[in-house]
Amino acid sequence: AGQIASRVRALDVSLIVKISEMAAARKRAGEDIISLGTGEPDFDTPDFVKHAAQAAIDSGETKYTANTGTPALKAAIVARYRRQGIAVEPNQIIASTGAKQVLFNAMMATLEPGDEVIVPTPYWTSYVDIIAICGGVPVEVRTRGEDGFVMNPEAMEAAVTSRTRWLLLNSPSNPSGGAYNREQLRALLPVFERHPHLGLTSDEIYEHLVYDDFSFISVLKALPELAERTLVVNGVSKSHAMTGWRLGFGVGPVSLIAAMSTVQGQATSAPSSISQAAAVAALDGPTEILESRRQNFWRRRDIVVAGLNAISGLDCPTPRGAFYVFPDCTALLGRRTPEGTVLETDTDLCDYYLSEAGVAVVPGTAFGAPGHFRISYAYAQTALEAALDRIAAATAALT
Ligand code: PLP
Repeated sequence: AGQIASRVRALDVSLIVKISEMAAARKRAGEDIISLGTGEPDFDTPDFVKHAAQAAIDSGETKYTANTGTPALKAAIVARYRRQGIAVEPNQIIASTGAKQVLFNAMMATLEPGDEVIVPTPYWTSYVDIIAICGGVPVEVRTRGEDGFVMNPEAMEAAVTSRTRWLLLNSPSNPSGGAYNREQLRALLPVFERHPHLGLTSDEIYEHLVYDDFSFISVLKALPELAERTLVVNGVSKSHAMTGWRLGFGVGPVSLIAAMSTVQGQATSAPSSISQAAAVAALDGPTEILESRRQNFWRRRDIVVAGLNAISGLDCPTPRGAFYVFPDCTALLGRRTPEGTVLETDTDLCDYYLSEAGVAVVPGTAFGAPGHFRISYAYAQTALEAALDRIAAATAALT
């Protein structure tokens, strides 16, 4: 094999991938494993979206499109934001191969070697790897369950240096489900005002999945003062159960979008023409199905939060959004398994749950927040209930 570049060698295989592979290997070996590891809706892509894709194929929408996306998709994105009272022009939009590529384009287009990006923890694992691969340095700022995993301005201010290029926010968050309301976003404004070199990237891909009386607000609406230095990342992967279609979009200042387009143009060109047509149908389509799915996630969230909090040693905040819970398990660390192994870390505990309970969950360490683990509740209610029973029994067996 040829030399592998240091920027790639430096990256670890994600713990999430490792856990999924371990769980899959155990399943193949005939073990009864409940895997609560993955981050995708368990629903199917809505039929009206599939039909639009089929129509696109039949009508010959099967060629390269404009690099930043078709006029029809941009119009659907403009309309989508207009419905929230946010004015966006087509040249402020880029469509990409998943929200992930939007983030990648942005970091590639803006980071000089050594530039810093503030990433509140717990974070989606890919953020720190994308930043690192693009030559940047992730700067972690801890958030806490008792604060709803929302970062306060003092913590942010303390992390800002002359090298800080971006704050990378994720609301609602994978893995914590934490989300920022208007006031919590407004509270960050003075920090941006004190530091004009600082940009805001806001990953809002879970915006449709919020619960209780929480109402989602985009940073474009909450912080209009920052529009000239704000990039919003979004897409249809989570909202419309379209993870495999690979279609995300970014909304930002014209010059930033142009630079991101340059990056994308040499990596992939535009996203799939068929996926773009499907996304138009998704964005313009009926919302009833999204609402019933949201209600369904909400019920499952309540079951999982209640089930975890009934287990002595686990403390699970009630998340405002997304489809994950992120319980604190520090009270269990230092305890002993029936075999006599001491559980030193969250990773040890997750290994124990996998081997003893047959339940795969992801350690908080993977998200920069040791002492926790993540459960995705985008699984059948029966599987969730069985997993909770097993976790409860395995936890009760610790001494
Ligand atoms: N952003 C967050 C916070 C995610 O959790 C994910 C997927 O897990 C993505 C972005 C990726 O979205 P896409 O599949 O559109 O690339």
